[in-house]
Amino acid sequence: MNIETVCIHGEGRKTDYTGAVCTPIYQSSTFAHPGVGRSTGYDYTRAQNPTREHLEKKLAALEGGHGALAFSSGMSAVGALVELLSPGDHVIASDDLYGGTIRLFDRVLTKNGGSVTYLDTGDIDALAAALRPETRLVFVETPTNPMMRVTDIRAVAELLRGRGITLAVDNTFLTPYYCRPLELGADVVIHSGTKYLGGHNDTLAGFLVVKDEELEAKLRYTEMTTGAVLAPFDSFLIERGIKTLALRMDKSSENALALALWLEKQPRVKKVYYVGLPSHPDIAVSRAQAGGFGAMISFEVDSAETARAVLERVELIYYAESLGGVETLITYPLLQTHADVPEEQRLERGITDRLLRLSVGIEHIADIIADLENALAV
Ligand SMILES: *Cc1c(COP(=O)(O)O)cnc(C)c1O
Repeated sequence: MNIETVCIHGEGRKTDYTGAVCTPIYQSSTFAHPGVGRSTGYDYTRAQNPTREHLEKKLAALEGGHGALAFSSGMSAVGALVELLSPGDHVIASDDLYGGTIRLFDRVLTKNGGSVTYLDTGDIDALAAALRPETRLVFVETPTNPMMRVTDIRAVAELLRGRGITLAVDNTFLTPYYCRPLELGADVVIHSGTKYLGGHNDTLAGFLVVKDEELEAKLRYTEMTTGAVLAPFDSFLIERGIKTLALRMDKSSENALALALWLEKQPRVKKVYYVGLPSHPDIAVSRAQAGGFGAMISFEVDSAETARAVLERVELIYYAESLGGVETLITYPLLQTHADVPEEQRLERGITDRLLRLSVGIEHIADIIADLENALAV
């Protein structure tokens, strides 16, 4: 089946005894046993729930994984992955990561005796040079947040082959509609389902999708033990969101390209970071591994005053954290997503007081442009 169809039907069209076209919300924390030593397959919702299971199967089918696990947020999904590490283990991660993931690595992983090296995972030689005998995990985000740099997933997988190192890719920005890292050689895919998968800025969720059965079992055990599972109603909302993923990704990406081209021509805009721009250095790598460029744009304006004015003058676009929903949002990485990243590290990466980030929604492009045009007219 084609991916648009999998978004709607998962592994295949199914109904229960009622013929319900949509997955029922099994709002039950526990399930009665038919007899001693017998189970319906469901015992207690922390271990598994039919609504969550249905969603997990859909995610696994979309990413081409052996299995998927749904968590209460993207961060709890990353947290479960970090739980697999032991004191002394070493992690290599993209240096332009989501701020929350940096916080988890710097504060939790390190406290528990692990260590982390940040580098540009798009630079294969630098990555090869940083590998150590105790390296257990390479964590790649692509495109990165907020600088939109791209890592060649196939090349990293090739480098790590046979070394016993897990390659994890945060695929939140592109979703399986555009990119399927497991098919490119990754071992684990991470999602903040809060973003494009849910798609409506109304639910928090996270996922790990894995290729290997043994790794899946370890992660399931961790999730069941630590307990950050996705609730039945939230599972229903995310599953419903995924039904329109293809339409939303196409529309928001089309809007994003038009907006990026328009932004490049504005006198107050000094630089535009969008993977789909012909001027983007990684456009070829992106084309080779993804079917689209997504709808995230960062741009630098001429001064910190202009940046603040834009945030205060937008009327249609919300000045709000998060991304991947139908509404266009604008954020100020300096004060929001990357507020906890040390200043030196931030500036090195180009996250200045002039940088703004847009998550382009599915409104009419003319209305989004009109709003930004007005906001930039300071
Ligand atoms: C939002 C986000 C996360 C964290 O997900 P939550 O659902 O907010 O916990 C992780 N990675 C990326 C790329 C994100 O955008």
